[in-house]
Order: sequence, then structure tokens, then C-alpha cells
Amino acid sequence: MKTILSDSINKAASFIKEGELVAFPTETVYGIGANAYDEKAVKKIFKIKGRPADNPLIVHIASKKDIGILAKEITPSAKKIIKEFFPGPVTVILKKNEIVPDIVTAGLDTIAIRMPSSKIARELIKLSGVPIAAPSANFSGSPSPTSFRHVMSDLSRKIPCILIGPASKYGLESTVIDCTGKIPVILRPGSITLEELKKKIDKRIVFKKNAGKIKSPGQKYRHYAPEAKVKLISEFGFGNADLKRETSNVKRQTIKEKSSAFAFIGLSKKFAGSYKVVKICRSTEEYAKSLFSFFRECDDKGIKTIYCQRVPEKGIGLAIMNRLKKAISN
Ligand code: AMP
Ligand code: MG
Repeated sequence: MKTILSDSINKAASFIKEGELVAFPTETVYGIGANAYDEKAVKKIFKIKGRPADNPLIVHIASKKDIGILAKEITPSAKKIIKEFFPGPVTVILKKNEIVPDIVTAGLDTIAIRMPSSKIARELIKLSGVPIAAPSANFSGSPSPTSFRHVMSDLSRKIPCILIGPASKYGLESTVIDCTGKIPVILRPGSITLEELKKKIDKRIVFKKNAGKIKSPGQKYRHYAPEAKVKLISEFGFGNADLKRETSNVKRQTIKEKSSAFAFIGLSKKFAGSYKVVKICRSTEEYAKSLFSFFRECDDKGIKTIYCQRVPEKGIGLAIMNRLKKAISN
């Protein structure tokens, strides 16, 4: 199949209208979208990504009005979150309406809804005239794409259109919040942080890792992983016994294999000495934004092991550690 790269939102929308797939930019990661009401089109997403059929998709909207069409009831907590954070990098889970085909929600009676802040994404949805069901535009399990070049490397010749846009502003997938109960529950952490949600929405909100496994099937799969091995190193430096073992390992291997294939990403320069590819981030936000892109760069350069510095699981750090832990379980 021929893939056109285009910056014409009109052109991209015409593919969606024809029941075809389009990859498009958003502020979280690039998505691969189809008309959410078109079962046949949505089926193609699962096939091309190799996505398990029990992993539901997020439905993207351009106007808050669409929430009432897609969801049976907008709970009080959802109302608050929508008011505060839509459009933005946050997804709400609500009871679904019959209009949404089962394939989109993997047979669940709930639906995930997000209104992107990316103007290009919203314009695409608007011009398509339908909500767009879209997961990340990569093969299932690999690092999510944060630039159109990443999308090209995974999906060229597999989909008809890639809509070109800027690199993703946040670089991590949205915060997914189950709003069906009285107290919202975070199923997947993201750039809208637990602390922010506690402050602005409800101080009883928690991130339930295990609820995620049952309630948000996507969370049970290995994810975000590069070809290279991902290893975590401590946030605290060389006092830590694990880290000592790790660094002595690295030193040995580095001497043995002169063209050593190690990489480092993190916040602290002091760990970075003996690695071939290094990314020192000035903030946890930059770490989040760079992580998937760094994984892909390392794979392109034939890196064997990527050492990732742990960060405290607070603020955006909770989302970074969530992705890192999933990337190492391979
Ligand atoms: P992705 O589009 O690849 O970022 O993944 C979407 C995430 O949202 C996955 O972790 C899904 O399991 C989760 N998700 C989508 N729909 C639902 C739903 N109805 N209930 C719970 N989680 C959902
Ligand atoms: Mg994904």
C-alpha cells in the first residue's frame, strides 16, 4: 500500500470518511485513527498494530458535546475532570452508549473518551465529522511514536495516510481515569498528575495499579519496550548496592567490547560517563518527553542495553516509572 505523507488536514479527513486509517499528531503521542462508528475501519487498527482484541481504544472527540452521545451518563467526577482538563492529555472512562461498536471498547460496557489539546488533531476530528478511535501509531508493545518519523518507520506502506505535525508536546500517553464510580481511579498515570487531580478534583483519588490490570486491559501487556534491554538504575547514586553491581558490570563489559553498546537516560550527569548514547534531562518533564524517542534512537544505533535512572514516583515521575517498569518486563 502507498502511504502519503501530508500536512493537509482535509486530505487526511477524507481518508477517515472513506473508512481508512490515518496516523495523526496529538500532544501525548501520535495516534492511528479510524471512524469510531465504523466497525470495519476499527478492525483494521487492531490488525495493523497487532493489538490484542481485548485491549480497548480511546475515542477522540473535538467537542465536549460528543461526550453525551458516546456515554450513557456523565458522572459528577467526570464533569469536574472534563471542565478542568478537557481539552488535554487526560482520558475519562464512562458507561458507554449503544451507538459505540463493541470492537472499540473490546466488549466492555465502558468507553474511554479524550479531547486532545492538539489543534491539528481536533481539526482532523472536526473535518472527519465523526469521533476517531485511536491508539498509539506503533506496533503493539514497541515504544509509542512521538514524531511522524517514528510513525513512518513502523507504519509506512501499511496505512494510506500519515498526517504530519510537530513532535508530541508531552511524549507519554494520556492519564486514564475511571470515572464510573463515586471516587475516580487512575488506571494509567500520565502528564496530568495524581497530585494535580487530588488538588483540583478529589483528594481521595488514587492510582490503582491492580485495578488497572482488570479494569484497563491494556495495562496488563508488556509495553513501550525497545529492542534493547532496559535496566533501571537508582536515583540515589553509588551508595546503593544494586547500582554498584550494575556499574561494575558496565565497566567490565565496556572494556571487553570496545564498541560498547550502552546508553543512558536520566537526570544526573554522574551516571553517564561510560555510555555511548547519553541523554541528560533537565527536568522530569523533559525525561517524559524524551523517553520513547530515546528508546527508538538507541535501537537505530544498535544499543544493547539502555540504563534508565529511576525517579521518585511523584508528579510526572509516577508516569515515567510506570512506563519504565513495563519496558523492563521483557
Ligand atoms: P493506548 O490507546 O494504546 O494509549 O491505550 C489506551 C489505554 O486505555 C489502554 O491502557 C486501555 O486499556 C485503556 N482503556 C481504553 N478503554 C478503556 C475502558 N473502557 N476501560 C478501561 N480502560 C480503557
Ligand atoms: Mg499504545
